[in-house]
Amino acid sequence: MAEDYYKILGVDRGASDDEIKKAYRKLAHKHHPDKKGGDEAKFKEINSAYQVLSDKQKRSQYDQFGQTFNGAGGGQGGGFDPNQFRGQDGGFEFNFGGGEGFGDIFSDIFGGGGSGGRQSRGRDIQVEVEITFAEMISGVQKEIKLYKAIVCKKCGGNGGEVGSKEENCKTCKGSGKIKKMMRTMLGNFAQNVVCHDCKGKGKTFDKKCSQCGGDGRHKEEVAEKIEVPAGINSGQTLAVGGKGEAGENGAPAGDLLVTISVVRDERFERDGDDINSTVHVSFAQAALGDKIDVETVEGSVKMKVPAGTQSGEIYRIRSKGVPKLRGFGRGDHLVKVIVDVPTKLSRKEKKLIEKLREIEE
Ligand SMILES: [Zn+2]
Ligand SMILES: [Zn+2]
Repeated sequence: MAEDYYKILGVDRGASDDEIKKAYRKLAHKHHPDKKGGDEAKFKEINSAYQVLSDKQKRSQYDQFGQTFNGAGGGQGGGFDPNQFRGQDGGFEFNFGGGEGFGDIFSDIFGGGGSGGRQSRGRDIQVEVEITFAEMISGVQKEIKLYKAIVCKKCGGNGGEVGSKEENCKTCKGSGKIKKMMRTMLGNFAQNVVCHDCKGKGKTFDKKCSQCGGDGRHKEEVAEKIEVPAGINSGQTLAVGGKGEAGENGAPAGDLLVTISVVRDERFERDGDDINSTVHVSFAQAALGDKIDVETVEGSVKMKVPAGTQSGEIYRIRSKGVPKLRGFGRGDHLVKVIVDVPTKLSRKEKKLIEKLREIEE
């Protein structure tokens, strides 16, 4: 029978990923062998358990069969060996950014997040754009001015002066990575981080670009056009890929995240894909029936108020609502009819209404 990974981490079988991560982090802190009172065997055990339980596929295999079949962390002996990560200085060495929850949690612990040898993508840019209710109905193209990092026009992003020679980076000897010692609660770790000189490329130019100083990008005001689709909801965010800040030395750009805010229109109230509005009619119009003008987002339309309409009744005008976002068709316009009871009567009106009362009696 394989060890009980859940027991090792002290969590229930139904524990969430988050609970498992938390439990693991706590135990890893406690038992780390480089720490005073640490316990290497225990630490190994915790890591084996975490390797399995933090991986959806391995966890479900383990739940079903009591072991995993692809070697790593399986019940049969192997598993995690901290020595294999031991650097020369006695600290641990991890390669971050491996993708398997593992690097992830350690970078969590270290607050690092630096991924070994990878160039950093440009930052995302977040902006808020206001549109009118009418623009929300029709969809609109908006131009936004951004002061952002763009790829250097002189060197095309590689950071080298025109005509300069490319050579192996002296700082990292061409590997793109350097080792950085991290002092943490768990002991000393050598973390592989991106070389600051070549930004992970392993190569540098003998002369840096005079425009960007070797970074491969510079700041400039740029106008970006974005298409806001009809029917968007206030508060929704559009992600425009690659329109964020340029990455260092030709690394991919970040995204442009545009949060849309729709200005209220006091005539209309949006309710999903429908639009609600209110009209007022006189007592006579309601009693006798009438054709009235109703304002919709497509302009004024005629609507029939049937004879005998009660105050508060709602009538539906089809397909004059909000266009379905990225779909076909649109919602309806719902009109609430309010019957106004006169507050001040002329002598003539009063006479007529008194007559009406006589008839009704
Ligand atoms: Zn440049
Ligand atoms: Zn380097």
